[in-house]
Amino acid sequence: MISTKGYAAQTNTSDLAPWNFDRREVGAHDVQFDILFCGVCHSDLHQIRDDWFPGIFPMVPGHEIVGRVVKVGDKVTRFKVGDLAGTGCLVDSCGHCDNCIEDLEQYCLEGGTGTYNAIGREDKMPTYGGYSNTIVVKEEFVLHVSEKADLAATAPLLCAGITTYSPLRHWKVGKGHKLAVLGLGGLGHMAVKFGVSFGADVTVLSTSSAKEADAKKLGAHHFVVTTDEAQVNAVCGTFDFILDTVSAAHDFNIYLSLLKTNGTMICVGAPSTPASISAFSLLGGRKSVAGSGIGGIKETQEMLDYCAANNIISDIELIDIKDIKNAYERMLKGDVRYRFVIDMATL
Ligand code: NAP
Ligand code: ZN
Repeated sequence: MISTKGYAAQTNTSDLAPWNFDRREVGAHDVQFDILFCGVCHSDLHQIRDDWFPGIFPMVPGHEIVGRVVKVGDKVTRFKVGDLAGTGCLVDSCGHCDNCIEDLEQYCLEGGTGTYNAIGREDKMPTYGGYSNTIVVKEEFVLHVSEKADLAATAPLLCAGITTYSPLRHWKVGKGHKLAVLGLGGLGHMAVKFGVSFGADVTVLSTSSAKEADAKKLGAHHFVVTTDEAQVNAVCGTFDFILDTVSAAHDFNIYLSLLKTNGTMICVGAPSTPASISAFSLLGGRKSVAGSGIGGIKETQEMLDYCAANNIISDIELIDIKDIKNAYERMLKGDVRYRFVIDMATL
């Protein structure tokens, strides 16, 4: 076993605190890498608080992980010691269902294995995430990271990046489309960067008027404060797509009214409570509500390569792991600019 240092929540009400645990030995198909940086996703907070389902405790969160390879198994062919490596939200899947065969491991029909808060397919042991000093992952679920990249600002691409890239690609959002990004946090700011890069006309819909200047700096063409009724009415019926990244309960009907005829609202945000949607919000204008979950491994590599080629990284605040509680408190208030990343040297 590999003794590992991390930060864990012992229960769904406790704060994160130092915790030592064991990881499996490096198997023939495994890559072990020492973690340099790990992004802080709102999903980490949802999961340590059991917002979605009862979690597995102690829980070591973190699924935006980059580091350097320290050991590889005998059968590993794509990584060697010293390479940079990344892991996102998935560490395994069945590999043989229709979705896995189509590189959609995130929709594995047997259930993909989460990087933390899940049970390993083979060893049946809980998985532990990236708020830790080292990790062992099956080679197929390890991504290549460019040596030229700013590593800390690349970590958030592993979840916030792919979760916004994948739906924008799937719905072919680009030139000629009006895209609204709802919520300017970790996912939202990456959605703005990708939307602009793909050629769409991008509007940020935000509760925080203080984020307007930042939104423009990120490349957004327009900014609407959603608490200002006049501003919201002015964009009624104007968007082809709304990418909804909001982490808390909100009224879908208001945002559906902002779509054009045939428009689609794509949900990537994952509030803990269900939304209530009036049929009239959809039928007047043949509108759709859709969803999208992270992305497959092949598409995640494609996204990382696209970011490296186009100089796209996350806007981050680098933090000491001891400040994680404060980071979570700020995240709950929507005060994230625009992703906290833990410097794992502070562990
Ligand atoms: P985040 O950084 O906290 O950003 C969420 C943003 O939503 C906030 O910055 C805020 O933006 C807005 N917001 C928060 N509370 C709101 C409220 N009550 N009403 C309206 N707007 C509100 O979170 P994140 O890491 O981007 O994650 C966002 C959501 O996506 C989370 O639920 C997370 O679990 C989920 N997620 C889903 C996937 C997936 O596969 N689909 C992957 C990763 C994360 P403004 O200040 O601009 O209003
Ligand atoms: Zn995430």
